[in-house]
Amino acid sequence: MDNYFEYSPLEIEARIINDFKKKYFNKVNVYSFIAISAYAWTENLVNGLINILKPIFNGKIILGGYEITALNDDKLYKTYPNADYYVKGYSEKSLEKLFKNESKNRILNEKINENDLISVYLSGIIPLTTESIYWESKRGCSFHCDFCEWGNAASNKVIRLNEDRIDDEINLFKQNKIKKINILDANFILNDHDIVILEKLLEIQDCIFNFQVNFNILKNKLLDKFVSICKNNRNRLFLELGLQTIHKEEMEILKRNNDIEHIKYILQIFNNQNINYEISIIFGIPGQTFETFQNTIRFLEENGCKKYTAYPLRLPQNSIMKKEASKLKIKEDYSKFDSYPIKFVTESYSFDRLEWEMMYSIANKSKILIPYEFVSIMKKVTENYITKDMDKYSLLNEVEENELSDIIYEKLCKNDISNNLLLGTGADKYYIAINRILSIKSMRELCIREKKYTRIFTNLIIDFIKKTQQHILNVENTFINENQNLSADLLSQKKLEWELEIIDKECKAFCEELYMKIEQKQNMEVDFTSPNKR
Ligand code: SF4
Repeated sequence: MDNYFEYSPLEIEARIINDFKKKYFNKVNVYSFIAISAYAWTENLVNGLINILKPIFNGKIILGGYEITALNDDKLYKTYPNADYYVKGYSEKSLEKLFKNESKNRILNEKINENDLISVYLSGIIPLTTESIYWESKRGCSFHCDFCEWGNAASNKVIRLNEDRIDDEINLFKQNKIKKINILDANFILNDHDIVILEKLLEIQDCIFNFQVNFNILKNKLLDKFVSICKNNRNRLFLELGLQTIHKEEMEILKRNNDIEHIKYILQIFNNQNINYEISIIFGIPGQTFETFQNTIRFLEENGCKKYTAYPLRLPQNSIMKKEASKLKIKEDYSKFDSYPIKFVTESYSFDRLEWEMMYSIANKSKILIPYEFVSIMKKVTENYITKDMDKYSLLNEVEENELSDIIYEKLCKNDISNNLLLGTGADKYYIAINRILSIKSMRELCIREKKYTRIFTNLIIDFIKKTQQHILNVENTFINENQNLSADLLSQKKLEWELEIIDKECKAFCEELYMKIEQKQNMEVDFTSPNKR
């Protein structure tokens, strides 16, 4: 899989589907079922795979995973209309029912117990052919943090795996000289029993372990025992802990209570003992501001944390925040800075889009994107531009077109994929689309190899924008007629959303076509002048 990650998400999707076709198309009918795990960010890929499989596969397609669990039945059918079955929650029992042809329902949600959790290693389902593996000692989480898919899928219940099974697995790992175990448990150390498991795991020679622990659980004697093990195995244990925020108001929204004094105490011990740990925090929490986010970072730095990662808040489908989105004034949108097809909370009652981008900027220290000392100036520019642009139907005038064309051309020449703001170029609504197109690695490589393509691609991108805008203008009357009962404010908001949806759809089609042509170019000369001929 690693070879996919150097590409943009759109290219990854196209490549995976292409590779799947090449490798498995003539083999799929050996199987009666194909089960696919779905996440929010894999919707296009999963639907793409189902669409190519459906016409040729004689068996049944099953979907499962967090996203399937989180979507209500109506949304599930709408989002993934072509699957045969949908498994919510843990899949062991549901899959068994399907394989035995014992289910009359398309949506299954079977509860499991400890005996249903078969070891994939002891059973040989996953052969131990690598030195690094994923493993679990328990399923589920007793907490219910509102931002977390785990908490929502697990229904607050923790299922511990049978002790004999764990012992047998550890012996198998010893025999197979496993060198790295990534423990999947939501919280690995819950009590003394887990301390015993950790001690047994450490008997696997030269093996290192990554796992998550929880500040709230590590207390008193459990903390002492755990620290003593960590101290003696410094170079073998790598801990991950979630802090998310130090602020009460934000904790309440996240449904996560942090005892800050206790956290300071644990950090002090970890630092004194040179224990390896990493902490995660979140930005974009309703109630947060740029300043409070900075305070959370400052807290970590002042308390000696050397490694932390800040993640943008994304709302799980069935979270309380999602239900209260309008009360919290939440807006979800794509990031301008990543081309992942996933929406984050980019506005709420306590911060606006620009402030979110500033948080993004300090969260990604390596790619400072916004000179936040100029925030007030930028805010003015944004406000002026948006108000000015609201009633404008034509998109690019000649000056804007030339300006935008220069920016794109220069980016392609310099192989620059940093995400500059395009405000004022007349292409604000196309921001995500343009960045998505510019992130196509194979296109950039071609421009570096053969200069002539830089101008060709620039023209194609400008052409894509103009044609898409023309398309929007052509169907606009129908949209307005269908929504004529709305107030002016609501109409302009709805219209913007409608336009963005069209742009997104057209961009995907454009990228797919361009991507295919570049692929073909590897073998023969191809006429690039005709993508986007919709
Ligand atoms: S964030 Fe951690 S503790 Fe909270 S619900 Fe998710 S897995 Fe459990």
